Amino acid sequence: MSYAERALRTLSAGNRTLLRAQDEATLLQEMCRVIVELGGYRMAWVGYAEHDEERTIRPMAHHGVEEGFLTLGHFSWAEGDTPDARGPTATAIRSGKTVVIQDLHNIPDVQLPISLNESFRRGYAALAAFPLIIKGETIGNLTIFATEPDAFDECETGLLAEMADDLAFGIATLRMRERHREAEETIRHMAYFDALTDLPNRSSVGETLAVEIAQAQQENQSMAVLLLKVGRFQEISDTLGYQEGDHLIVEMAGRLQHIAGPNKSVARVGEDEFAIIMPRSSAEAAMRVAHHAMREVCDPVIFAGLAMDPHAHIGISLYPGHGNTPEALLRRAKIAAVQARRTACKYTLYKGTEDRESTRRLELMSELRSAIDQNELLLYCQPKVAIRSSEICGAEALVRWQHPQHGMIATGEFIALAEHAGLIMPLTRWVLEAAFRQSYAWHEKGIKRPLSVNLSAQDLRDPRLIDRISGLFATWALPPELVQFELTESALMEDPAGALETLVQLKDLGVELFIDDFGIGYSSLSYLQKLPVDSLKIDHSFVTSMLTNAGSAVIVHSTVELGHNLGLGVVAEGVESEALWDRLLELNCDTAQGHFVGRPIPTEQFDEWEAQSPWSRSPGGDVALH
Ligand code: C2E
Ligand code: MG
Ligand code: MG
Repeated sequence: MSYAERALRTLSAGNRTLLRAQDEATLLQEMCRVIVELGGYRMAWVGYAEHDEERTIRPMAHHGVEEGFLTLGHFSWAEGDTPDARGPTATAIRSGKTVVIQDLHNIPDVQLPISLNESFRRGYAALAAFPLIIKGETIGNLTIFATEPDAFDECETGLLAEMADDLAFGIATLRMRERHREAEETIRHMAYFDALTDLPNRSSVGETLAVEIAQAQQENQSMAVLLLKVGRFQEISDTLGYQEGDHLIVEMAGRLQHIAGPNKSVARVGEDEFAIIMPRSSAEAAMRVAHHAMREVCDPVIFAGLAMDPHAHIGISLYPGHGNTPEALLRRAKIAAVQARRTACKYTLYKGTEDRESTRRLELMSELRSAIDQNELLLYCQPKVAIRSSEICGAEALVRWQHPQHGMIATGEFIALAEHAGLIMPLTRWVLEAAFRQSYAWHEKGIKRPLSVNLSAQDLRDPRLIDRISGLFATWALPPELVQFELTESALMEDPAGALETLVQLKDLGVELFIDDFGIGYSSLSYLQKLPVDSLKIDHSFVTSMLTNAGSAVIVHSTVELGHNLGLGVVAEGVESEALWDRLLELNCDTAQGHFVGRPIPTEQFDEWEAQSPWSRSPGGDVALH
């Protein structure tokens, strides 16, 4: 076999290797093997030119009679006058050209990094070093030794150089394939994992659940899905910034992973929602995990140097009882999580009727819009009485919805619906108009009775709110003290800075402002001090229980003191009994509202009610205001 022939055989076998190789290391190894076994060469090796300080040539693969040859010295492609630098491999890499030494017996030893004797001992008589070039850059070498001193003539060298080029091409292709694979992996990761917590996301949890459901079905097992909703996320993001909100989520993710352990997967399924999937689990096991999770996740988190207790609530749904699709299980766990907010332990199992409830809510939502347009709403009002003088000092406007089929809809329910459906603004417009009309009627009769109107968080974001209210004052020519506004603490905390701005504008109109449901939100004292408000209304949950619950008693007592210290009036809501009234009098609370004082009634019946009530009209009441 001529040298050219063996080179040709090597070339074509090399090409087959190129086609088959799946990864770089195997490709290099296979090429060396083919060169030696099919080409009949003594040894072949591939090195990569590194860009470290010593410009190391790192042997990557070899085949044939090597016997430790590649570890005898340090191969380097650095410039210089050393044997390393002037060796054929280094020269091939630096120059990008093939270097051939046809007869090793006829060159001075000094040109080689390793003594010639070492080569002779291994039967190397000639060598050819080929650069491996990818896109103009030499990435390494392929060096071949032959036993025949006259090997590597021009024809053979040309063919082998072609093979070295093919090898470089093969390496480039594999590297490109690897980059594609990595890019695909990144894209896949982005599609299935949450960027902030690196937990599986909603799409991913859907797939995992589908697999787990199928598995559970096969094994006749039950399984549980826990959905944890993190409380205060919006509030923390709004007041402390998105970074702190993210910090809360990352912290929660870590804690949940710790709780879940290796057999349950945790996923982030919403901005402030996590799911824990518990294969082969019963309701009891799920409740135990929920109980444990509640304790762990509510430990304080440090925000900007301050420790704050996070809030959370958990809903649990079970396969097969609550559904057999990922969507149904997640949806029902979420419904349960909303319910859990109202429970003492803050976690609960899904209870069957909620879906019918949700459908009813959806229907109501669509009907509310036309109810507003078609005047199915009614304006009720509830008296407020000054505690020290027992005089009626105002009334609160409360909207009612008289549904043609369902009768009177609970106000709390449809206000929440309106908030969800973006219907608060038309609702508020309706209430404002009705309240101003009523105020005007009282004003005309010479009754000075301030009427307070509730505003929601969304109203505070309505850019036309202030214009609408000042327009109404102008239309009815009413003095500003006859209309007041109540804003819940939690509405203010949804956007504290924006709320402050709107409150300042409202205050500029000369109206009185109340903070409603005080005590159940989380406003800070420093924020409160900045607000241009006149009174606090203590939430009725504290007032109604103040005689039986020491904690509530402390809250009522200290809110009265706090309000007075800040120069604010204090109203107690939910005054349902005389005993409560007496206690509030002792505490020096200013105003009472509640069933003991008077229930909400249609506004047109208010005068009649007042005439028969034990409360007297405030002295200013009979004085005509105009
Ligand atoms: P709120 O502003 O705190 O209104 C007081 C609520 O307590 C009223 O419920 C009232 O009927 C109820 N209440 C009055 N006296 C007592 C009592 O002695 N004991 C107890 N347990 N409750 C008492 P209502 O009318 O169902 O309204 C619920 C909430 O809906 C209101 O709470 C208010 O936040 C909102 N709301 C009512 N009307 C409007 C409105 O026109 N616009 C807006 N944006 N929200 C409204
Ligand atoms: Mg109110
Ligand atoms: Mg209230």
